[in-house]
Amino acid sequence: MITQVRKITLGTKEWADSNVNCYFGCSNNCRYCYAKKMAIRFKRKTEENWKIMIPNSLKIEKNYRHRNGRIMFPTSHDITIESLINCLKVLNKLLVAKNNVLITTKPSVYCINKICKKFKKYINLIQFRFTITSINNDILGFWEPNAPTFEERYKSLKLAFQNGYKTSISIEPFLDLNPYILVEKLLPFVTESIWIGKINYYNLNNPSNNNKYFFDKMEQTKQKNHLIEMIKIASKRYQGIVRIKDSIYNYVKS
Ligand code: SF4
Repeated sequence: MITQVRKITLGTKEWADSNVNCYFGCSNNCRYCYAKKMAIRFKRKTEENWKIMIPNSLKIEKNYRHRNGRIMFPTSHDITIESLINCLKVLNKLLVAKNNVLITTKPSVYCINKICKKFKKYINLIQFRFTITSINNDILGFWEPNAPTFEERYKSLKLAFQNGYKTSISIEPFLDLNPYILVEKLLPFVTESIWIGKINYYNLNNPSNNNKYFFDKMEQTKQKNHLIEMIKIASKRYQGIVRIKDSIYNYVKS
């Protein structure tokens, strides 16, 4: 039986106490992006221009104080080669103020190399959380069209690990029916935790026959029996390292 008595927290609150962003829009243009959905709903962005990243100069130029608890950066865009200079500027201000920062990204080697080199003296304040949702580049290319390939993200993880940084993984949403193949591959380079979450939202507008293949595969990952099996494997084989997100527990119990 699946039971969970601890307090349920959802979304980024499960990982950090506050968050910081410095761009509008995200070039990765993931099909399951909740930030995109909200930006379109509140007319801050459109379906067409979400992928054009616009710097938020207010957030880039302001000063940041020390905050209680961990800060997640970023949450509604990514750290890309194009946005890197401004992201480094904001990260620097957060770290100078001695904030604990959870750097969340679908990583590229170029960006991770720059971050590792620049912030070595703040290594104790930083934890990387790399989003690696599938081991299969066809699946990644469909759901996260402009994000780095699996190999690029895998190399980035190894790079951060070899540089002595704290590393963790988000497999949310898990895109492979069996995410534990991915877990096994990443495990040797993870110092903290691997989080598995299910897909909570995706854009189902007019799936073509080509797209149907990926949508159908995704539907299989969401079946309750399958999710229960994922929870059991985590507690049996990966206790203490693989963490199941509350969204899965909530869904299974509903
Ligand atoms: S990387 Fe994150 S913020 Fe960017 S499009 Fe994908 S889900 Fe949205």
